[in-house]
Amino acid sequence: MEILYGSTRRNDKKVTASQAILQGLAPDGGLFVPDHIPALDRTIEEISKMDYRQTAYEVMKLFLTDFTEEELRGCIDSAYDSKFDTEEIVSLAEVAGAYYLELFHGPTIAFKDMALSVLPHLMVTAARKNNVKNEIVILTATSGDTGKAALAGFAGVKGTKIIVFYPKGGVSAIQEKQMVTQKGDNTLVVGIHGNFDDAQTGVKRIFADRALGEELAEKGYQFSSANSINIGRLVPQICYYVYAYGTLLREGKIAEGERVNVVVPTGNFGNILAAFYAKKMGLPIGKLICASNENKVLFDFFRTGAYDRNREFILTTSPSMDILISSNLERLIYRITGNDSAETAQLMAALSGVGKYEITEKMKSELGDFYGNYATEAEAGEEIKRLYADYGYVIDTHTAVASAVYRKYQEETGDCAKTIIASTASPYKFVGSVMKSIGGEEAENGTQSFYGAGEVDGRKAVDGRNAVQGVKTSQDDFELVDELEKRSGIPVPDAVKEIRTAPVLHEKQCEAEGMKDVVREFLLAVR
Ligand SMILES: *Cc1c(COP(=O)(O)O)cnc(C)c1O
Repeated sequence: MEILYGSTRRNDKKVTASQAILQGLAPDGGLFVPDHIPALDRTIEEISKMDYRQTAYEVMKLFLTDFTEEELRGCIDSAYDSKFDTEEIVSLAEVAGAYYLELFHGPTIAFKDMALSVLPHLMVTAARKNNVKNEIVILTATSGDTGKAALAGFAGVKGTKIIVFYPKGGVSAIQEKQMVTQKGDNTLVVGIHGNFDDAQTGVKRIFADRALGEELAEKGYQFSSANSINIGRLVPQICYYVYAYGTLLREGKIAEGERVNVVVPTGNFGNILAAFYAKKMGLPIGKLICASNENKVLFDFFRTGAYDRNREFILTTSPSMDILISSNLERLIYRITGNDSAETAQLMAALSGVGKYEITEKMKSELGDFYGNYATEAEAGEEIKRLYADYGYVIDTHTAVASAVYRKYQEETGDCAKTIIASTASPYKFVGSVMKSIGGEEAENGTQSFYGAGEVDGRKAVDGRNAVQGVKTSQDDFELVDELEKRSGIPVPDAVKEIRTAPVLHEKQCEAEGMKDVVREFLLAVR
């Protein structure tokens, strides 16, 4: 059955999947949502026999209904290939009674690759299907991982340009180096003086700028988004939950139909929303455990029903979760209002106006699938240390937040259902913080000399704002990389090897208010 997509803020006009992917954000500023969530049309038993590509096809065909089988399989085959360093594409590690779903085996070693390696293919296919002649300009705000994954996906893709804004001083040294060394004439990387929310808000504002849109259309450009607000990112993320469940069944770890909990380290609420959609498709998922770092706006929301972004923005060692406006929550809000776009629009207007909103008791009662909690910096660090010391397994700082929250959940509820923990980044990506947690004497001394007080992984906390600094050469980080390889026994990923000697190609910086000018300058070459 055909699925159409409508905005969370005005659902009178529906578009096809390919149009929703092309547009990214709905014209009214809302997010595209499917008019219903399709049910899996394969049994779990059947799925358990499929490889990743086949599973991805079975899930994506149900959402992206205006793509032909040939088109979809073509996109999937181009995406999930030898760019990934494991043939399975994702892998499951059983450690301390939980299953760590390693989603970081792609080209930029974070889970964003799972969706961003396929999105450019979906986008180009969508443009062809809709006879779009304009060049597509991908505008992206990143808290660190989306930027590089999107750059890697779109670099050199004909008919596209990509502009990435990241918070200068608000990402890890490795993350920054990965982005600023990006090759490709169609790429631009800009550090903004502000945090991720400033970058995301700036991008949304550019999208909503009609005059700019018209000016650029005259020059043959149109914008789209590679952020998780794009439905073309959300849908591919559902696939790995389905695949993981199938794998557990195939390996005899669970019985068919057995309920499995899922823990997700959460920032923009995209990854966990994908797990929620998987559950609504019929995958036997029990609780969706939403793990936050000290920016615990979602924990407070699940507890009280009030979403309030008016608080200090804390720079943590899990930067990809340093977010106070979790965009994708809007899709869940829409659902719990009973698909009421007027009510959703009102709540979102309150969020952008006074910075907060409160949901009704009835809406709150619809949130039973979720459990929210958070881990402090110390707790996450302890978790890295514990898993390494007791099991020899090294996790990154984001996965550590999820793992620590999982333990809190178990202690609080006694629920001992089998559990999948989304492991969202390679420990190499946050090597400074990881080594600080697992390093013995030696590394600890080293770490202290590498990082001054309040500075980890090349990030500096100044009053909750980001310090302005040059691109670090990261020589120190590379020493830590070697040390981590020795201790973990995990070979250094190519993604890290590559940037060791790569030249910095992007040095542009701007104020959050100046983002629009940077975009115009890049596209129109006007001063
Ligand atoms: C993006 C990211 C997250 C947060 O995912 P959301 O979909 O934004 O909730 C968590 N961990 C890592 C490593 C990430 O890159």
